[in-house]
Amino acid sequence: MKRLTSAPNLALATLWADMLTHGGVPTRVQRAYASSIVGEVPFDQSLPELWVVNDEELEPARKLLHELRHPPHRHWACPACHEVIKGPFEQCWNCGAAMPV
Ligand SMILES: [Zn+2]
Repeated sequence: MKRLTSAPNLALATLWADMLTHGGVPTRVQRAYASSIVGEVPFDQSLPELWVVNDEELEPARKLLHELRHPPHRHWACPACHEVIKGPFEQCWNCGAAMPV
């Protein structure tokens, strides 16, 4: 197991771990219950952490997490109806055409 990152809270840690695991990188949340002892340990050592199960998957996990936290922001014009589409959509909301590649 290798430490990937810490998360600001348990809800986010659990969400990221779920998304990474479903994305093909098994990830576990560690120190999930340490927040109950906040005040006894330094704050930055009481945050839940994400650990990748397989050491060699640390780099893929970093990339995947970055993508999850920064979804691509697209801006494109539909080739069929010329509607301008903004946001993470790959399909025209107006006519259903696919985003041009
Ligand atoms: Zn369209």
